[in-house]
This record gives sequence, C-alpha cells and structure tokens, in this order.
Amino acid sequence: MSKLSLLFVSSEVYPFAKSGGLADVAHALPRALNAEYAVEVCMPLYSFIDRKKYKISKRSEHFDITIASEVHSVELYGCSCEGINYCFIYSPLLCEREFLYGTPEEGYADNALRFGLFAYAVAALLKEKQHEIVHLNDWQSALVTLLIKEDMSIKTKSLFTIHNLAYQGLFPRHALEALAIDSKHFTMDALEFYHQMSFMKAGIAYADAVTTVSKRYAQEILTPEFGCGLEGFLKHHEKKLSGIINGVDTEHFSPAKDKMLALAYDDLKGKAENKKASLKEIGLRGIKKPLFIFIGRFTWQKGVDLLLEALPSMAAFDCNIAILGHGEAGYTTKLEELAALHKNIHLSCIHDESLSHQMYAAADFLLMPSLFEPCGLSQMIAMNYGAMPLVHQVGGLKDTVVSYKDFDDKKEKGFGIAFKNPNLTAFLGAFEEALELFANKREYNKICRHNMLCDFSWDKSAQAYSKLYKKITHGEKS
Ligand code: ADP
Repeated sequence: MSKLSLLFVSSEVYPFAKSGGLADVAHALPRALNAEYAVEVCMPLYSFIDRKKYKISKRSEHFDITIASEVHSVELYGCSCEGINYCFIYSPLLCEREFLYGTPEEGYADNALRFGLFAYAVAALLKEKQHEIVHLNDWQSALVTLLIKEDMSIKTKSLFTIHNLAYQGLFPRHALEALAIDSKHFTMDALEFYHQMSFMKAGIAYADAVTTVSKRYAQEILTPEFGCGLEGFLKHHEKKLSGIINGVDTEHFSPAKDKMLALAYDDLKGKAENKKASLKEIGLRGIKKPLFIFIGRFTWQKGVDLLLEALPSMAAFDCNIAILGHGEAGYTTKLEELAALHKNIHLSCIHDESLSHQMYAAADFLLMPSLFEPCGLSQMIAMNYGAMPLVHQVGGLKDTVVSYKDFDDKKEKGFGIAFKNPNLTAFLGAFEEALELFANKREYNKICRHNMLCDFSWDKSAQAYSKLYKKITHGEKS
C-alpha cells in the first residue's frame, strides 16, 4: 500500500527560520512521521535563508495567483535535508523581509496580504498535487482551510494546530476585500472577531480537526482566563479539538551528541565541564554556585514582569543567573538596567541557537515563570540536559513537569519545582526551594540524572497525530 501524502505547512522551520518553538516542532514532527507518510514540508523562502548552504534550488513549477485583480507571481523552490523534502514558496511580497513577522510599526502592516498570499500558494500546490492531508500550523497558514473549503476540486483533508492562541492574526476588516474573501464569511461563527478579520478563526472553523500542543492547554483555552476571547467559539468546535503534547527533537537536542557544546556528555561530570566552560565564556564566576538560566522571548506571556520583579532578590543570593532572549524593547531595557547593577546576572539579548544549547548544558535550573504556556519546549530540553526546571504550573508546563517531591523513577515523568500562582511570593518561594535542594547534592543529582533519561521524544505524539490523520482521511470532506 502506498503511503498517505502529507503536506506540513509552517511559517517557520528550523534550521531555515526560527522565532520560537513552532520552528522546532516543524523540524522534528515531520521527521517522526516520515517513515509512515510521504511528507513534504512547506514554508516561505524568506530572503535571509541561505540558499547555497541548504542547496535550495528553483523548481520548474510556478503559480500566477490573482488576488483582488492583482497578479502575484509565486515561485517554488525545493531541497532535501536529512531525508525530508522541503517546498519553499517565494514571492517578494512574502519573503523580502528582515524579520519573519514584525508589527505594523516595524513596517509589517501588510502581514494579512503576505500570509494570505502564502495560503493561496499552498492551496494552489494542493490543487496540483492533491496531497491527502495538509497539516497547518498557527494563524499564518490557517486561511488554507477556507480556500480548500471553497474549492471543491481540492480533496485534501486538513488538520490545524494552535501553537499559541494569543497570536490570532487579527486584521482590519478591509483585509477581507484585499484577500478577495467573500463577505459571507465575515460573521461571528466564521472569520469575524469584534469587527476584525481573524485568520485563526478560519483554521478553527474550517479544518477537519483542530489540535493544540498539550492536553492541559486544550482544556484551558475553553475558559475565559486562557481563551483570548475565543473560548465560546472553541467550545462550539470542541468535538474536533484535542491536545497532543509536543516532543523534543532528540537528534538536535541531545547532550550526548550535541556538537554545539564544549563537550558532549551523558553524565553530570560532563555537564560540570560545560558549566565551567560557559561560565568562563560569559564572564560569571563560581562553578559551585547554582546557575539559573532563562531562555525565551521577552514578552508578557513568558512571565518577564515577574522575572524582573524577582531578579533583585534572587541576585542577592549566592548564585549566578544567565538570561538569553529577545523581544519587546521595554523588557530589554529593564533587563539591561538590572544586569548592569548585579555582577552575577549575565544578559544576552540575541537569538543564538548555539548559545542556547550551551546554556542548557551549563544550567542547574531553568526559570520558566510563564503566565500561560501552550506546551513549552525549554523545560523538556532543560531536563534532558540535566537541569531542573522551575515553572509556573500552567498549560504544558503542568503536563510535563512533576514536583520533585513526588519523585519516582518512571522514565516518562520529568521532575522539577512548580509553583501554583504567578506572583512574587510564590516565585521566590520556589527559587529558595531550589537553593535548598541544590545544597542537598545527593537528592538534586538523583533527580537531574533521572531527568536526563526521560523520554520527551516525538514517538508517542507522532503516533497520536497519525491516528488523527487517519481519522480525518476516512471521513468525508465536511
Ligand atoms: P515559544 O515557542 O513560546 O517561544 P517554547 O519553549 O515552545 O517557547 O520554545 C522556545 C524555543 O526557542 C526553544 O527551542 C528555545 O531554546 C528557543 N529559544 C528561545 N529564545 C531563544 C534565543 N534567544 N536564542 C536561541 N534560542 C531561543
């Protein structure tokens, strides 16, 4: 029997373009499915992607896509990387940019048209190739579901994954005309969200199945606290909604074969060597002191306000703190001010994949006080690198980090320190608990050794996706 063909669509895929966890997922999940499906991964060919390095070449196919009487010439490019076939969509409008997304103030006011065009190009590809399944990710590719629905000649079944409900792809109403979408779709039970056009709602309304990236988040988004105004709409589509936890790419994030480290390691001795090398590199002193790291986007979601509030108290203890991230300018400035005041805080305001690996390898604890967290990968990566996560008990963090007080040696469970309420008292309480635990070397090492062996791979979750793909391909086009 021939394999079902799957087009996996994402606006970012590691190593070509990455702003966060979505790129990691789009890199790893297709690999985990490749044996069972004929997989092709589709993304924009942003101008900053190194075509030579990845041997990306032009394909013979191209599309002329007319949207609202404007003709856009779209070229297709391709490459094969680690056994996966990639299809890149190129048009100057979509791709000639410094950043992936950006705000209107940064000159990205045309994002609706950019990613609308991306969706049209994906639909044209589906029309030509008739993949059996298309797996769409986040608002940037959500509109594909509507275009499939409108074109009865496309037989493809769709699965839409919400990686973060807070980013919905909301645009002024006139985007509807600019994208030549029939105004009959501008209703509350379709694309309209408080007089704006929502890409995310298209994905939820028209996909054959909708997933999000942890079981807990799938429940949370049905509530006003986490539903970002879509809780009622999601509740209406609850029957096709499920949560599948993300995995970690164990090829890319494995301390035992990680070429980005000073020394690959599979025990705590090797980890200590990495800590020594990293502390020297970033100019922090004291190998014996616990090293806390924070790696993530500087946004409200990641609990940066709480981090800023807690840092002066944390820095007063005999420890080191290293922060890697980038994002909102206001947060960057405040973090820079704090780092300048405290010798034991090191700050890197960049996106640096190698440095992130080195920091996971060096760390004793990962700070992750996210206010909400659909899944979170950093906590799982940290555990596999022998660091203990200190997390707010929410979303995927709740599903993946069990309190060390409930320790047992089952390999599917990772242990850390979790706090219930995202406030200063709880966060500092967890921090002091971490210091205490670190002082009890035997106990601390036992947990970290266990975490290094935990299975956070994609195996089980890829099977769950496979089950869903089969379910939707057996149903009729709805
Ligand atoms: P999100 O997708 O919300 O940003 P996740 O925890 O799911 O958060 O995934 C974040 C991914 O991005 C992890 O692989 C993390 O190591 C990486 N990352 C975040 N910030 C940086 C940075 N400044 N430099 C390098 N990698 C980063």
